[in-house]
Amino acid sequence: MSRAKLRLVQLPVPPPAALAATGNVPLAAGCLGVAARVHGLTDRIDVDVVAPSITDRYGDTRLAELIAADEPEFLGLSLYLWNMERSLHLAREVKRRSPRTRVLIGGPEVSPDNGFLLEQQGFDLAVSGEGEEALVEVLEHVLAGRDPAGLGGVAVRTPTGLTPFGPPRAALFPLSSYGSPYLEGLVPVEPERSAYVEGARGCRSKCTFCFYPKVQSALRLLSPAQVEAVVTGLRERGAKEISFLDPTFNHRPDFELVLEALGRANPDRSMSFFAEVRPEGLSAAHAAMLKKVGFDKLEIGLQSVSAKTLKRVQRGGNPAMVAAAAKMLREQGVDLLIDLMVGLPGDVSEDVSKGVDFLEKHDLGQFAQVFALYVLPGTAMRESAARDGLIFEREPPYRIIRTETMSEQDIAESLASAEERLGRRLDALPRPHLVAATPPVEPPDVFQLSPEKASGAERAAAARPGAQHCALWFEGEDLFSHHAALLSAIDARLAVDPYATLDVVLAPTDVFPLELLAMVRARLDTATPSYETRSRAHRGVAQSQRVTVVLGRGVDVPEDWVDAVREEAPVFRDQSLQQAARDAAQLGVELPCARIVGPATDAAARAKLVAEADPECVVFAERALEADWQRHTLGYGDAGN
Ligand code: SF4
Repeated sequence: MSRAKLRLVQLPVPPPAALAATGNVPLAAGCLGVAARVHGLTDRIDVDVVAPSITDRYGDTRLAELIAADEPEFLGLSLYLWNMERSLHLAREVKRRSPRTRVLIGGPEVSPDNGFLLEQQGFDLAVSGEGEEALVEVLEHVLAGRDPAGLGGVAVRTPTGLTPFGPPRAALFPLSSYGSPYLEGLVPVEPERSAYVEGARGCRSKCTFCFYPKVQSALRLLSPAQVEAVVTGLRERGAKEISFLDPTFNHRPDFELVLEALGRANPDRSMSFFAEVRPEGLSAAHAAMLKKVGFDKLEIGLQSVSAKTLKRVQRGGNPAMVAAAAKMLREQGVDLLIDLMVGLPGDVSEDVSKGVDFLEKHDLGQFAQVFALYVLPGTAMRESAARDGLIFEREPPYRIIRTETMSEQDIAESLASAEERLGRRLDALPRPHLVAATPPVEPPDVFQLSPEKASGAERAAAARPGAQHCALWFEGEDLFSHHAALLSAIDARLAVDPYATLDVVLAPTDVFPLELLAMVRARLDTATPSYETRSRAHRGVAQSQRVTVVLGRGVDVPEDWVDAVREEAPVFRDQSLQQAARDAAQLGVELPCARIVGPATDAAARAKLVAEADPECVVFAERALEADWQRHTLGYGDAGN
């Protein structure tokens, strides 16, 4: 009898650029794979984790084809707010191709209070809470022909709908029960990606906006020696950067012993560490030790400067402690991320503004992450949202719309004002993908069409399944007259890969009426809504499907027309590196942005461009140069980049 297959998939956070690192590590999938091994399930079932190199590059259709090709019995999906809808689309596409595949979902999104998720189609079994033991139990039931309905934390789809979830499952197993998925060979150690280590699960704090306290309140730890062994193993396998997933890295009783263990595991400091800390109890000696053993960056949650709000959301602590901890860490040269939330219950606009004052006063503005509150499933805040007057979106990312003390406009204005005062965008500006079509890559990510003369075969080629971030180029003299062909090619791409990022690129050889831009944008607005479109909806522009204009070399169009187009859409002009360097400071200001074609070996010109240009206003036609710019100039890399 052939063995059953369980395929585990975790889709990435949509990255800010096509060639940027995604930071996607299928750790949860790896943990499930380890649990299946530990419980002997792998004697009866083959478990594989789809590699990030596939999940992060393939568009929806190609991914579904690949996953369904051998018709696995089971597909397991790790659902997070950024991938839930796309994952369920994938599930439906896989089931269309492989009807026998049973789809299991788990992860933080799976919670009995997530009505939006539970009304979706595409999954057969939902597991809420920690998955290691639940998954094994579910699979053992299914393989033995028993009904898993009623198992702790499990809901099952039946012909009449989804059963209620079984009683919440107490997650009490020692963390050391399951080895590191990296060291077990289920997740590759890639030097260019952060490796994740979970030294602790559970958190002693009870912040009402966090889903941790409800599912994982008991603190479970790897011992310092176990942490040392995992980190040493990762170093031996080439890891350069390690992110600790411990909810609060310094809130374990043996924190200092863990630091000593990390010092032993990183003797040559060849690795860089990242973790989240709370300021309470953090001393100058801790700060020095953190830096010494390898922590180059740490995250500290400030959230609000209002003592009343911090008490209300059960966050505790106070801003003065954050400032003191930040100072100690900065003195050691540790970089920081400091979170400030907009829209917490009880906060008013003035509190956000005082939060920015606070960051500026303590010279921490450069480290600020200011973002709107998400009312997450499974949190105490969601449970009391109606009583507290919180109005939030039902769909991911469950963004706050208004509170009793902040209107929708207050929230939007607070975000805009924080951005203005800090002098930078608080989310990454999506970057158009403007590399050349040749040499081609797999899956294809650049499609070109001349609507004036395209054959049926060429139109079909422009609609074939592609990568997760694609560009659809339209070239020609009179694009406007052929707008019907152009719009139908856009429709075809939106249909084949609905959750892909799509750049529509107009490359005219002559002027076109600006109405064409409005037509394209209106068509792009029909794209499937997603986490990505909603998370930046307050900016009033679609983020996942955009239109860009590229003026090729030799295209001679009036400057006032170019200026008018620039009011409506980004415009790039093809040019040499030297020309772009000459105009570096004016790119995207007085002049269109630059798309650099040809060689980029002139080091002086490149250095001038790096020093003077807005990096988002420079793109490269050559793929390797563009990738290098994204990773090193824009900082969209991962470990070591
Ligand atoms: S936000 Fe951090 S400190 Fe608060 S409960 Fe969650 S994990 Fe713990």
